[in-house]
Amino acid sequence: MSRRLPLRLATDPGADPDSALRAPHSELVDSFGRRHNNLRVSVTDRCNLRCTYCMPEDVTFLDRSELLSFEEIARFVAVAAGLGVTKVRLTGGEPLMRKDLHKLVRMIVPVPGIVDVGLTTNGLLLADQAEELFDAGLRRLNVSLDTLDPGRFRELARRDGLDRVLAGLAAAKRAGFGPVKVNAVAVRGFAEHDVVPLARYCRANGFEVRFIEYMPIGAEAWERDKVFPAADILGLIARDVGGLIPIKSDPAAPAVDYEYSDGGGRVGVIASVTRPFCSGCNRLRLTADGKVRNCLFALDETDAKALLRSGDPAAGPALAELIRRSVWAKWAGHEFNTAAFVKPDRTMHAIGG
Ligand code: SAM
Ligand code: SF4
Repeated sequence: MSRRLPLRLATDPGADPDSALRAPHSELVDSFGRRHNNLRVSVTDRCNLRCTYCMPEDVTFLDRSELLSFEEIARFVAVAAGLGVTKVRLTGGEPLMRKDLHKLVRMIVPVPGIVDVGLTTNGLLLADQAEELFDAGLRRLNVSLDTLDPGRFRELARRDGLDRVLAGLAAAKRAGFGPVKVNAVAVRGFAEHDVVPLARYCRANGFEVRFIEYMPIGAEAWERDKVFPAADILGLIARDVGGLIPIKSDPAAPAVDYEYSDGGGRVGVIASVTRPFCSGCNRLRLTADGKVRNCLFALDETDAKALLRSGDPAAGPALAELIRRSVWAKWAGHEFNTAAFVKPDRTMHAIGG
């Protein structure tokens, strides 16, 4: 049971407790009419960094037997694709810590209906894997990097690794990925020093930097003051790096993108706190241990692993029904700008960012 009440609209069919029984049967539509075609799959909760905003220093990871196998993940993706999912993004924890991840990419790319497979990584292991991932069919790559200063990297990630991330980015470019997106979480009181150097570095190297507002999903207590608003970030870039022109973005996409007015590339912001995009959300998530989550901030999740491991020939339709019901039950939004907000028990690394 949820500990928080979902936001409800007057005409919301989700207000009816039996409404899930009447969920549409061929696609993933929630009770607010949002169509879901975007699946994020966490392949592990392990990580080789300990970013302060994402996870605690002392953490117990899932037993490996709890993780879905590549075959189980691919089966889930195939069922979701049958329900209209077209995009898959692999994430974690750190997805490149999962041995032979390229084999999973090779299994997902040809799934009928899937047109876009992406990966979000901290980049530490990317230099060695970029080529095999590209050869497996991966084309969309996001590398997380918050600072170009080694000391500040260590402070934020509680580990060293900046050189390896930069080597990973260079290897990704050589392998043919383009344009690689660089994700930077902006924490106020910290990112002020990093925004301009990161924007300049990405512009000079042909990467698209995207600044993400800090969200209440890590191990720390939620401090709203730590949110560095996207508008302030854009102001710094426009003042010190180059003038920006907004690009017409997909309304379902979390990022709002801008182009440098002199043609020097693109910059994006993900303003989850100051400009929530829940009304256009099209995402669902599969955790590394096989739970379906209809929102990053959901307090409930549904177990798909038992069905995936049942060996039952009827498991496909049952799994499809489970996914449809999970999506149908999605709330209007994350509520972290309201007093009703309750932080989920799982932190970001254990859900899949
Ligand atoms: N380990 C990989 C990485 O860091 O890219 C993939 C998983 S990580 C959880 C996915 C994304 O979530 C990263 O870009 C990370 O910066 C972002 N993230 C983690 N905690 C966050 C928070 N509290 N607020 C906003 N973004 C966060
Ligand atoms: Fe690891 Fe990514 Fe979380 Fe950092 S943000 S601790 S790299 S999972």
